[in-house]
Amino acid sequence: MNGQYDAVVLGAGMVGGATALALARSGYRVALVERASLDDLKAPDTGRVDLRVSAISPASQHLLGQLGVWKDIQPQACDYHYMDVWHEHGNARMHFAAEQLAIHHLGSIVENRYIQAALLRHLEPLPNVSLFQQQPLSDLQQSDESVQITIGDGQTLSAKLLIAADGRNSSVRSRLHLPALSGDYRQTAIVANVQTTEPHRHTAYQRFLSTGPLAFLPLADGQSSIVWSADTERAETLLVLDDDAFCEALATAFEYRLGAVTGCSERAGFALGWHSASQWLSGRVLLIGDAAHGVHPLAGQGVNLGFGDVALLRELFSGPDVALDTRRRLRRFERQRKAQTLTATHLFGALKQIYGHESLALARLRDLGMNLVENSQMIKRTVLQSAIRNMQ
Ligand SMILES: Cc1cc2nc3c(=O)[nH]c(=O)nc-3n(C[C@H](O)[C@H](O)[C@H](O)COP(=O)(O)OP(=O)(O)OC[C@H]3O[C@@H](n4cnc5c(N)ncnc54)[C@H](O)[C@@H]3O)c2cc1C
Repeated sequence: MNGQYDAVVLGAGMVGGATALALARSGYRVALVERASLDDLKAPDTGRVDLRVSAISPASQHLLGQLGVWKDIQPQACDYHYMDVWHEHGNARMHFAAEQLAIHHLGSIVENRYIQAALLRHLEPLPNVSLFQQQPLSDLQQSDESVQITIGDGQTLSAKLLIAADGRNSSVRSRLHLPALSGDYRQTAIVANVQTTEPHRHTAYQRFLSTGPLAFLPLADGQSSIVWSADTERAETLLVLDDDAFCEALATAFEYRLGAVTGCSERAGFALGWHSASQWLSGRVLLIGDAAHGVHPLAGQGVNLGFGDVALLRELFSGPDVALDTRRRLRRFERQRKAQTLTATHLFGALKQIYGHESLALARLRDLGMNLVENSQMIKRTVLQSAIRNMQ
Protein backbone atom coordinates (compact mmCIF):
# COMPACT_ATOMS: atom_id res chain seq x y z
CA MET A 1 0.00 0.00 0.00
CA ASN A 2 1.48 3.37 -1.03
CA GLY A 3 -0.65 5.92 0.78
CA GLN A 4 -3.40 6.03 3.40
CA TYR A 5 -5.84 8.92 3.60
CA ASP A 6 -9.13 9.95 5.10
CA ALA A 7 -10.35 10.84 1.60
CA VAL A 8 -9.17 10.42 -1.95
CA VAL A 9 -10.75 13.02 -4.25
CA LEU A 10 -10.72 11.99 -7.90
CA GLY A 11 -10.67 14.95 -10.32
CA ALA A 12 -9.05 18.36 -9.74
CA GLY A 13 -11.73 20.37 -11.54
CA MET A 14 -13.32 23.29 -9.71
CA VAL A 15 -15.50 21.01 -7.56
CA GLY A 16 -12.82 18.40 -6.82
CA GLY A 17 -10.30 21.11 -5.94
CA ALA A 18 -12.75 22.86 -3.60
CA THR A 19 -13.72 19.53 -1.99
CA ALA A 20 -10.09 18.62 -1.33
CA LEU A 21 -9.35 22.06 0.14
CA ALA A 22 -12.48 22.07 2.32
CA LEU A 23 -11.63 18.66 3.80
CA ALA A 24 -7.95 19.50 4.21
CA ARG A 25 -8.76 22.78 5.97
CA SER A 26 -10.96 20.76 8.36
CA GLY A 27 -7.93 18.63 9.22
CA TYR A 28 -8.51 15.47 7.15
CA ARG A 29 -5.68 13.74 5.27
CA VAL A 30 -6.54 14.12 1.59
CA ALA A 31 -5.18 12.87 -1.74
CA LEU A 32 -6.27 14.73 -4.89
CA VAL A 33 -5.84 12.71 -8.08
CA GLU A 34 -6.08 14.23 -11.58
CA ARG A 35 -5.56 12.57 -14.95
CA ALA A 36 -4.44 15.79 -16.69
CA SER A 37 -1.34 17.88 -16.07
CA LEU A 38 -1.80 20.53 -13.38
CA ASP A 39 1.44 22.42 -14.12
CA ASP A 40 -0.13 24.53 -16.90
CA LEU A 41 -2.81 25.68 -14.46
CA LYS A 42 -0.31 26.98 -11.93
CA ALA A 43 0.87 29.69 -14.32
CA PRO A 44 -2.17 30.51 -16.48
CA ASP A 45 -1.40 32.42 -19.66
CA THR A 46 -2.77 35.87 -18.88
CA GLY A 47 -2.46 37.12 -22.47
CA ARG A 48 -5.93 36.07 -23.56
CA VAL A 49 -9.21 35.19 -21.92
CA ASP A 50 -9.89 31.46 -21.93
CA LEU A 51 -13.13 30.22 -23.49
CA ARG A 52 -14.30 28.37 -20.38
CA VAL A 53 -15.78 30.87 -17.96
CA SER A 54 -18.47 30.55 -15.28
CA ALA A 55 -20.94 32.85 -13.59
CA ILE A 56 -20.06 32.38 -9.92
CA SER A 57 -22.93 33.14 -7.53
CA PRO A 58 -22.52 35.06 -4.24
CA ALA A 59 -23.13 31.79 -2.32
CA SER A 60 -20.23 30.13 -4.16
CA GLN A 61 -18.07 33.20 -3.58
CA HIS A 62 -18.88 32.94 0.11
CA LEU A 63 -17.72 29.30 0.14
CA LEU A 64 -14.53 30.14 -1.77
CA GLY A 65 -14.00 33.01 0.68
CA GLN A 66 -14.33 30.65 3.65
CA LEU A 67 -11.72 28.43 2.00
CA GLY A 68 -9.43 31.46 1.69
CA VAL A 69 -9.21 31.48 -2.12
CA TRP A 70 -11.77 34.07 -3.31
CA LYS A 71 -9.37 36.95 -2.61
CA ASP A 72 -6.95 35.42 -5.17
CA ILE A 73 -9.71 34.89 -7.76
CA GLN A 74 -11.50 38.22 -7.38
CA PRO A 75 -8.91 40.38 -9.21
CA GLN A 76 -9.58 38.35 -12.39
CA ALA A 77 -13.38 38.34 -11.96
CA CYS A 78 -15.90 40.69 -13.54
CA ASP A 79 -18.82 41.46 -11.23
CA TYR A 80 -22.22 41.89 -12.80
CA HIS A 81 -24.75 44.12 -11.10
CA TYR A 82 -27.66 43.63 -13.49
CA MET A 83 -29.36 40.86 -15.46
CA ASP A 84 -31.55 41.47 -18.51
CA VAL A 85 -33.75 38.67 -19.82
CA TRP A 86 -36.08 38.80 -22.81
CA HIS A 87 -37.54 36.64 -25.58
CA GLU A 88 -37.34 37.14 -29.32
CA HIS A 89 -41.16 37.03 -29.47
CA GLY A 90 -43.39 39.22 -27.34
CA ASN A 91 -42.60 42.41 -25.46
CA ALA A 92 -42.05 41.05 -21.98
CA ARG A 93 -38.67 41.71 -20.36
CA MET A 94 -37.17 41.14 -16.95
CA HIS A 95 -34.53 43.37 -15.46
CA PHE A 96 -32.83 42.44 -12.21
CA ALA A 97 -30.50 44.67 -10.21
CA ALA A 98 -28.28 43.83 -7.24
CA GLU A 99 -29.65 46.83 -5.36
CA GLN A 100 -33.09 45.15 -5.31
CA LEU A 101 -31.57 42.73 -2.81
CA ALA A 102 -29.35 45.36 -1.22
CA ILE A 103 -26.26 43.44 -2.32
CA HIS A 104 -23.20 44.66 -4.23
CA HIS A 105 -23.42 42.31 -7.22
CA LEU A 106 -25.50 39.43 -8.53
CA GLY A 107 -22.49 37.31 -9.44
CA SER A 108 -19.08 37.36 -11.10
CA ILE A 109 -17.79 35.97 -14.37
CA VAL A 110 -14.49 34.15 -13.93
CA GLU A 111 -12.34 31.92 -16.10
CA ASN A 112 -12.60 28.36 -14.78
CA ARG A 113 -8.81 27.95 -14.89
CA TYR A 114 -8.28 30.80 -12.39
CA ILE A 115 -10.54 29.07 -9.89
CA GLN A 116 -8.74 25.75 -10.37
CA ALA A 117 -5.33 27.45 -10.16
CA ALA A 118 -6.17 29.33 -6.96
CA LEU A 119 -7.44 26.15 -5.31
CA LEU A 120 -4.26 24.29 -6.29
CA ARG A 121 -2.00 27.06 -5.02
CA HIS A 122 -3.68 26.80 -1.61
CA LEU A 123 -3.66 23.00 -1.59
CA GLU A 124 0.00 22.53 -2.51
CA PRO A 125 1.69 23.73 0.69
CA LEU A 126 -0.69 21.91 3.07
CA PRO A 127 1.10 19.07 4.92
CA ASN A 128 -2.04 16.90 5.00
CA VAL A 129 -2.55 17.01 1.18
CA SER A 130 -0.93 14.87 -1.53
CA LEU A 131 -1.41 15.87 -5.17
CA PHE A 132 -1.18 13.34 -7.98
CA GLN A 133 -1.27 14.69 -11.53
CA GLN A 134 -1.31 12.88 -14.88
CA GLN A 135 -2.67 9.87 -13.00
CA PRO A 136 -5.91 8.47 -14.37
CA LEU A 137 -7.86 5.99 -12.27
CA SER A 138 -7.00 2.44 -13.31
CA ASP A 139 -8.65 0.31 -10.63
CA LEU A 140 -11.11 0.65 -7.75
CA GLN A 141 -11.75 -1.90 -4.98
CA GLN A 142 -13.58 -1.54 -1.72
CA SER A 143 -13.98 -3.55 1.47
CA ASP A 144 -15.76 -3.01 4.79
CA GLU A 145 -12.75 -1.12 6.12
CA SER A 146 -11.55 1.01 3.22
CA VAL A 147 -11.58 1.85 -0.48
CA GLN A 148 -8.47 1.41 -2.62
CA ILE A 149 -7.76 3.00 -5.95
CA THR A 150 -4.89 2.26 -8.27
CA ILE A 151 -3.65 5.12 -10.41
CA GLY A 152 -1.79 5.34 -13.71
CA ASP A 153 1.74 4.80 -12.36
CA GLY A 154 0.63 1.70 -10.41
CA GLN A 155 0.47 3.29 -6.93
CA THR A 156 -2.41 2.22 -4.71
CA LEU A 157 -4.11 4.79 -2.49
CA SER A 158 -6.31 3.70 0.38
CA ALA A 159 -8.95 5.84 2.11
CA LYS A 160 -12.08 5.79 4.23
CA LEU A 161 -13.93 7.54 1.42
CA LEU A 162 -13.45 8.05 -2.31
CA ILE A 163 -15.07 11.25 -3.55
CA ALA A 164 -15.60 11.08 -7.30
CA ALA A 165 -15.48 14.60 -8.76
CA ASP A 166 -14.53 13.28 -12.19
CA GLY A 167 -17.07 15.20 -14.26
CA ARG A 168 -20.14 14.48 -16.35
CA ASN A 169 -18.72 11.30 -17.93
CA SER A 170 -17.60 10.03 -14.52
CA SER A 171 -15.64 6.82 -14.92
CA VAL A 172 -16.42 5.97 -11.29
CA ARG A 173 -20.16 6.28 -11.92
CA SER A 174 -19.91 3.89 -14.87
CA ARG A 175 -17.46 1.52 -13.19
CA LEU A 176 -19.89 1.06 -10.26
CA HIS A 177 -22.91 0.97 -12.60
CA LEU A 178 -24.59 3.73 -10.61
CA PRO A 179 -27.96 4.50 -12.18
CA ALA A 180 -28.59 7.99 -13.58
CA LEU A 181 -31.46 9.73 -15.29
CA SER A 182 -30.30 11.63 -18.34
CA GLY A 183 -31.49 13.41 -21.44
CA ASP A 184 -30.08 14.94 -24.59
CA TYR A 185 -31.23 18.47 -25.46
CA ARG A 186 -30.05 17.95 -29.06
CA GLN A 187 -28.45 21.35 -28.73
CA THR A 188 -24.88 22.58 -28.84
CA ALA A 189 -23.62 25.58 -26.86
CA ILE A 190 -21.22 27.73 -28.86
CA VAL A 191 -18.80 29.63 -26.64
CA ALA A 192 -16.54 32.50 -27.73
CA ASN A 193 -15.25 35.84 -26.46
CA VAL A 194 -16.35 38.84 -28.48
CA GLN A 195 -15.83 42.59 -28.74
CA THR A 196 -18.80 44.87 -29.18
CA THR A 197 -19.05 48.56 -30.06
CA GLU A 198 -20.98 49.30 -26.85
CA PRO A 199 -19.77 48.48 -23.30
CA HIS A 200 -21.36 45.59 -21.43
CA ARG A 201 -22.32 47.81 -18.48
CA HIS A 202 -21.60 44.96 -16.02
CA THR A 203 -24.81 43.27 -17.11
CA ALA A 204 -25.45 39.57 -17.81
CA TYR A 205 -27.80 39.41 -20.79
CA GLN A 206 -29.93 36.46 -21.85
CA ARG A 207 -32.05 36.55 -24.98
CA PHE A 208 -34.26 33.52 -25.47
CA LEU A 209 -34.62 32.53 -29.11
CA SER A 210 -36.99 29.77 -30.11
CA THR A 211 -33.86 27.85 -31.22
CA GLY A 212 -32.19 28.23 -27.79
CA PRO A 213 -30.91 30.86 -25.33
CA LEU A 214 -28.11 33.32 -26.14
CA ALA A 215 -26.14 34.80 -23.24
CA PHE A 216 -23.66 37.68 -23.25
CA LEU A 217 -21.62 37.68 -20.04
CA PRO A 218 -19.35 40.59 -19.08
CA LEU A 219 -15.58 40.01 -18.90
CA ALA A 220 -13.05 42.04 -16.95
CA ASP A 221 -11.20 43.17 -20.10
CA GLY A 222 -14.38 44.73 -21.57
CA GLN A 223 -15.15 41.83 -23.90
CA SER A 224 -18.20 39.57 -23.50
CA SER A 225 -18.21 35.81 -23.22
CA ILE A 226 -21.06 34.37 -25.23
CA VAL A 227 -22.91 31.09 -24.74
CA TRP A 228 -25.14 30.55 -27.74
CA SER A 229 -27.22 27.39 -27.45
CA ALA A 230 -28.81 26.25 -30.67
CA ASP A 231 -30.18 23.08 -32.20
CA THR A 232 -27.15 21.02 -33.15
CA GLU A 233 -27.59 21.36 -36.91
CA ARG A 234 -27.82 25.16 -36.70
CA ALA A 235 -24.88 25.30 -34.27
CA GLU A 236 -22.72 23.29 -36.67
CA THR A 237 -23.45 25.82 -39.41
CA LEU A 238 -22.64 28.74 -37.08
CA LEU A 239 -19.39 27.15 -35.91
CA VAL A 240 -17.93 27.01 -39.43
CA LEU A 241 -18.90 30.53 -40.56
CA ASP A 242 -15.98 32.88 -41.15
CA ASP A 243 -15.46 35.46 -38.39
CA ASP A 244 -17.23 38.35 -40.14
CA ALA A 245 -20.30 36.28 -40.95
CA PHE A 246 -20.39 34.83 -37.43
CA CYS A 247 -20.12 38.28 -35.81
CA GLU A 248 -22.96 39.55 -37.99
CA ALA A 249 -25.18 36.53 -37.26
CA LEU A 250 -24.45 36.95 -33.54
CA ALA A 251 -25.23 40.69 -33.46
CA THR A 252 -28.50 40.04 -35.32
CA ALA A 253 -29.48 37.22 -32.94
CA PHE A 254 -28.74 39.61 -30.06
CA GLU A 255 -30.74 42.46 -31.64
CA TYR A 256 -27.60 44.66 -31.67
CA ARG A 257 -28.17 45.12 -27.96
CA LEU A 258 -24.47 45.97 -27.50
CA GLY A 259 -24.08 47.45 -30.97
CA ALA A 260 -22.08 45.63 -33.62
CA VAL A 261 -19.89 42.64 -32.81
CA THR A 262 -16.48 43.73 -34.11
CA GLY A 263 -14.24 40.83 -33.14
CA CYS A 264 -14.40 37.24 -32.06
CA SER A 265 -12.02 34.67 -30.54
CA GLU A 266 -11.88 31.06 -31.68
CA ARG A 267 -15.18 29.23 -31.05
CA ALA A 268 -15.91 25.91 -29.33
CA GLY A 269 -19.07 23.82 -29.19
CA PHE A 270 -20.37 21.77 -26.23
CA ALA A 271 -23.10 19.17 -26.68
CA LEU A 272 -25.87 19.86 -24.16
CA GLY A 273 -27.63 17.31 -22.03
CA TRP A 274 -28.72 16.79 -18.46
CA HIS A 275 -28.13 13.99 -16.00
CA SER A 276 -28.92 13.22 -12.41
CA ALA A 277 -27.45 10.17 -10.64
CA SER A 278 -30.14 8.27 -8.75
CA GLN A 279 -27.53 6.93 -6.37
CA TRP A 280 -24.69 9.14 -5.16
CA LEU A 281 -23.33 6.86 -2.44
CA SER A 282 -22.15 3.31 -3.03
CA GLY A 283 -20.30 1.72 -0.12
CA ARG A 284 -17.33 4.04 0.43
CA VAL A 285 -17.71 5.97 -2.80
CA LEU A 286 -19.53 9.30 -3.07
CA LEU A 287 -20.29 11.24 -6.28
CA ILE A 288 -20.13 15.02 -6.25
CA GLY A 289 -20.36 17.92 -8.75
CA ASP A 290 -20.89 17.08 -12.42
CA ALA A 291 -20.21 13.41 -11.65
CA ALA A 292 -23.59 13.44 -9.86
CA HIS A 293 -25.61 16.09 -11.71
CA GLY A 294 -25.53 18.19 -14.86
CA VAL A 295 -27.89 20.96 -15.98
CA HIS A 296 -28.49 23.13 -19.05
CA PRO A 297 -26.10 26.12 -18.90
CA LEU A 298 -28.97 28.61 -19.44
CA ALA A 299 -29.07 29.55 -15.76
CA GLY A 300 -25.29 29.40 -15.21
CA GLN A 301 -25.73 27.06 -12.25
CA GLY A 302 -23.71 23.87 -13.02
CA VAL A 303 -20.63 24.55 -10.96
CA ASN A 304 -22.61 26.59 -8.44
CA LEU A 305 -24.62 23.45 -7.68
CA GLY A 306 -21.30 21.61 -7.31
CA PHE A 307 -20.09 24.25 -4.86
CA GLY A 308 -23.41 23.76 -3.03
CA ASP A 309 -22.40 20.08 -2.63
CA VAL A 310 -19.03 21.14 -1.22
CA ALA A 311 -20.66 23.57 1.21
CA LEU A 312 -22.87 20.84 2.69
CA LEU A 313 -20.00 18.33 2.84
CA ARG A 314 -17.95 20.93 4.70
CA GLU A 315 -20.79 21.52 7.14
CA LEU A 316 -21.34 17.81 7.83
CA PHE A 317 -17.65 16.91 8.11
CA SER A 318 -16.18 19.75 10.05
CA GLY A 319 -13.20 18.05 11.67
CA PRO A 320 -11.24 14.78 11.88
CA ASP A 321 -13.14 13.75 15.01
CA VAL A 322 -16.11 13.15 12.66
CA ALA A 323 -15.03 10.12 10.60
CA LEU A 324 -15.51 10.62 6.86
CA ASP A 325 -17.25 7.27 6.60
CA THR A 326 -19.99 8.18 9.11
CA ARG A 327 -22.92 6.54 7.31
CA ARG A 328 -25.65 8.72 8.75
CA ARG A 329 -23.98 11.92 7.57
CA LEU A 330 -23.14 10.55 4.13
CA ARG A 331 -26.73 9.45 3.66
CA ARG A 332 -27.99 12.85 4.74
CA PHE A 333 -25.64 14.49 2.24
CA GLU A 334 -26.90 12.23 -0.54
CA ARG A 335 -30.57 12.75 0.34
CA GLN A 336 -30.37 16.51 0.69
CA ARG A 337 -28.23 17.32 -2.34
CA LYS A 338 -29.98 14.82 -4.61
CA ALA A 339 -33.34 16.47 -3.90
CA GLN A 340 -31.99 20.00 -4.38
CA THR A 341 -30.06 19.33 -7.56
CA LEU A 342 -32.88 17.27 -9.09
CA THR A 343 -35.28 20.17 -8.51
CA ALA A 344 -32.82 22.50 -10.25
CA THR A 345 -32.33 20.06 -13.14
CA HIS A 346 -36.10 19.86 -13.76
CA LEU A 347 -36.55 23.60 -13.32
CA PHE A 348 -33.90 24.48 -15.93
CA GLY A 349 -35.24 21.77 -18.26
CA ALA A 350 -38.74 23.26 -17.92
CA LEU A 351 -37.44 26.79 -18.54
CA LYS A 352 -35.70 25.56 -21.68
CA GLN A 353 -39.01 24.05 -22.87
CA ILE A 354 -41.12 27.09 -22.03
CA TYR A 355 -38.70 29.56 -23.62
CA GLY A 356 -38.01 27.38 -26.65
CA HIS A 357 -41.64 26.71 -27.53
CA GLU A 358 -43.45 28.36 -30.45
CA SER A 359 -47.03 27.62 -29.32
CA LEU A 360 -49.16 30.75 -28.94
CA ALA A 361 -50.66 29.60 -25.64
CA LEU A 362 -47.24 29.00 -24.11
CA ALA A 363 -45.93 32.29 -25.50
CA ARG A 364 -48.82 34.12 -23.78
CA LEU A 365 -48.18 32.26 -20.55
CA ARG A 366 -44.47 33.09 -20.82
CA ASP A 367 -45.18 36.80 -21.34
CA LEU A 368 -47.63 36.75 -18.46
CA GLY A 369 -45.05 35.12 -16.18
CA MET A 370 -42.30 37.55 -17.20
CA ASN A 371 -44.57 40.56 -16.71
CA LEU A 372 -45.62 39.21 -13.33
CA VAL A 373 -42.00 38.90 -12.21
CA GLU A 374 -41.06 42.28 -13.71
CA ASN A 375 -43.92 44.10 -12.00
CA SER A 376 -43.81 42.50 -8.56
CA GLN A 377 -40.85 43.47 -6.40
CA MET A 378 -41.64 40.59 -4.05
CA ILE A 379 -41.60 37.89 -6.78
CA LYS A 380 -38.52 39.48 -8.32
CA ARG A 381 -36.67 39.33 -5.02
CA THR A 382 -37.66 35.67 -4.56
CA VAL A 383 -36.44 34.73 -8.06
CA LEU A 384 -33.19 36.62 -7.50
CA GLN A 385 -32.62 35.11 -4.09
CA SER A 386 -32.91 31.55 -5.37
CA ALA A 387 -30.61 32.38 -8.31
CA ILE A 388 -27.81 33.63 -6.08
CA ARG A 389 -28.08 30.96 -3.37
CA ASN A 390 -27.02 27.92 -5.46
CA MET A 391 -30.50 26.43 -5.05
CA GLN A 392 -29.67 25.62 -1.41
C1 LIG B 1 -20.94 26.07 -22.25
C2 LIG B 1 -21.01 25.90 -20.76
C3 LIG B 1 -21.15 27.01 -19.94
C4 LIG B 1 -21.25 26.87 -18.56
N1 LIG B 1 -21.41 27.98 -17.79
C5 LIG B 1 -21.56 27.84 -16.45
C6 LIG B 1 -21.77 28.98 -15.61
O1 LIG B 1 -21.82 30.11 -16.08
N2 LIG B 1 -21.93 28.78 -14.28
C7 LIG B 1 -21.90 27.53 -13.74
O2 LIG B 1 -22.10 27.41 -12.52
N3 LIG B 1 -21.66 26.44 -14.49
C8 LIG B 1 -21.49 26.56 -15.83
N4 LIG B 1 -21.26 25.45 -16.59
C9 LIG B 1 -21.14 24.14 -15.95
C10 LIG B 1 -19.73 23.94 -15.34
O3 LIG B 1 -18.75 24.14 -16.34
C11 LIG B 1 -19.61 22.53 -14.77
O4 LIG B 1 -20.71 22.30 -13.91
C12 LIG B 1 -18.31 22.38 -13.97
O5 LIG B 1 -17.20 22.55 -14.80
C13 LIG B 1 -18.25 21.01 -13.31
O6 LIG B 1 -17.11 20.95 -12.50
P1 LIG B 1 -16.60 19.56 -11.93
O7 LIG B 1 -15.36 19.90 -11.16
O8 LIG B 1 -17.69 18.83 -11.25
O9 LIG B 1 -16.25 18.68 -13.21
P2 LIG B 1 -15.16 18.91 -14.35
O10 LIG B 1 -14.92 20.35 -14.59
O11 LIG B 1 -15.61 18.10 -15.52
O12 LIG B 1 -13.82 18.30 -13.75
C14 LIG B 1 -13.59 16.91 -13.68
C15 LIG B 1 -12.09 16.68 -13.49
O13 LIG B 1 -11.86 15.28 -13.29
C16 LIG B 1 -10.77 14.86 -14.09
N5 LIG B 1 -10.98 13.43 -14.39
C17 LIG B 1 -11.97 12.88 -15.12
N6 LIG B 1 -11.86 11.55 -15.17
C18 LIG B 1 -10.77 11.25 -14.43
C19 LIG B 1 -10.12 10.01 -14.11
N7 LIG B 1 -10.59 8.82 -14.56
N8 LIG B 1 -9.00 10.03 -13.35
C20 LIG B 1 -8.52 11.23 -12.88
N9 LIG B 1 -9.09 12.43 -13.16
C21 LIG B 1 -10.20 12.43 -13.92
C22 LIG B 1 -10.87 15.75 -15.34
O14 LIG B 1 -9.64 15.81 -16.03
C23 LIG B 1 -11.28 17.09 -14.72
O15 LIG B 1 -10.16 17.85 -14.31
C24 LIG B 1 -21.17 25.56 -17.98
C25 LIG B 1 -21.01 24.45 -18.79
C26 LIG B 1 -20.92 24.60 -20.17
C27 LIG B 1 -20.75 23.39 -21.03
